[in-house]
Amino acid sequence: MQTHVARNIVKHSRLILVAVLIAGGAFLLLQHAKASAAVQTVVTIEFDDGNADQYQALAMLNAHGMHATFYVNTGFIGDSSHMSWSQLQDLYAGGNEIAGHTLTHANLKHLKTADARNEVCQDRDNLLAHNFQPTSFAYPFGSFDAGTEQIVAACGYNSGRGVSGVNDTKVFAETIPPADVYATRTPPNPKQGTTDATIEGYVMAAEQHGGGWVQLVFHHICNSCDAYSITATNFQALLNWLQADATNGSVVETTAQVIGGPVNPPVPPTIIGVNV
Ligand SMILES: [Zn+2]
Repeated sequence: MQTHVARNIVKHSRLILVAVLIAGGAFLLLQHAKASAAVQTVVTIEFDDGNADQYQALAMLNAHGMHATFYVNTGFIGDSSHMSWSQLQDLYAGGNEIAGHTLTHANLKHLKTADARNEVCQDRDNLLAHNFQPTSFAYPFGSFDAGTEQIVAACGYNSGRGVSGVNDTKVFAETIPPADVYATRTPPNPKQGTTDATIEGYVMAAEQHGGGWVQLVFHHICNSCDAYSITATNFQALLNWLQADATNGSVVETTAQVIGGPVNPPVPPTIIGVNV
């Protein structure tokens, strides 16, 4: 009897051990799946043009522990409708990225090479001179071609961004790393009439189609001051939604965090001795 009980205990112990191992294995698999899902969809909040009303984003981003990328035109900084250098420093000190968008919001595709190079390189050099670390660039009007991409690379940038290419029919997100790092793709830029539900839909579409990079490009935070604007209320609500959406495995990062790479030294806008 004693032996029988002892045998049963041993038998049960083995069964329990096997059960624990199976449960443990399942738990580890689950944890692994969660860890993989955690980096599947990366959202970057981006602001183009350095418009003065974008400064209010700082407090809202801070309240959510999020950082954005601001693509600015250094030729306009400090005028009445654009942010000042000191406001850009505040954004940067808060962990946001300050990135390039040409000196004067030029349509690079329409410029001669030398002029395009000046718009891109001098703008980047101005940012470096103000102690920023410009590694990301966005094409004004989303206008670029192979030659423009080469200029952006030659001026020392690690990436170039357009304003289209992601849609909810075929391309649900940019890949990480992007297919062409000097031609990164975005969903349609939110306009005055774009609802938060539409913007959130871009993120959910990525999540539901294998993840990737979703760049949300804003221009103004105001009540209908521009065709490309979002109200402060809607922007705030969007950040709340993004924060809650982290449970679905999405994270918010700056462009530089997504792309990586070094901060290249300044490149002179003109190449001495070369007639371009
Ligand atoms: Zn722009």
